[in-house]
Amino acid sequence: MQWDNRNKVLGNKKLKIKPSNNALKYYTKLARQHTSLANIRLNTTQKMTTDISRKAAVIRIEDLNVQGIIANHKLASAVSNNCFYEIRRQLIYKQSHYGTKVELVDRWYPSSLRCSKCGHIQPMELSERVYNCGKCSNILSP
Ligand SMILES: [Zn+2]
Repeated sequence: MQWDNRNKVLGNKKLKIKPSNNALKYYTKLARQHTSLANIRLNTTQKMTTDISRKAAVIRIEDLNVQGIIANHKLASAVSNNCFYEIRRQLIYKQSHYGTKVELVDRWYPSSLRCSKCGHIQPMELSERVYNCGKCSNILSP
């Protein structure tokens, strides 16, 4: 939408250029679209956190370094759009309502390197998607 309207007279207060009537219509449309997306995002996170809180008694969430991830421009928009902190906030305040317990896991805890059956820790490449335990031959796939 922003790309489609790039040639409109959008206005500039410093140069005292008034926005065109079509630009004003475009601003209203754009604001509506931003509101719609924000509402969809909020609705989805509310439903998801309620669903998780109903199904699990103990919820462990990883305390990620989001600021560090956002510094990577390839991940920034995807991570920002998923509102991690809002999910965490909702899970924490829903504790008392659903009787769940939310625990923050240290960001250096080897959660994806540890076997859930025997606790064995083995190094894994990021490209490897299936965990094959070297100790008890337990196979875990996402
Ligand atoms: Zn194992």
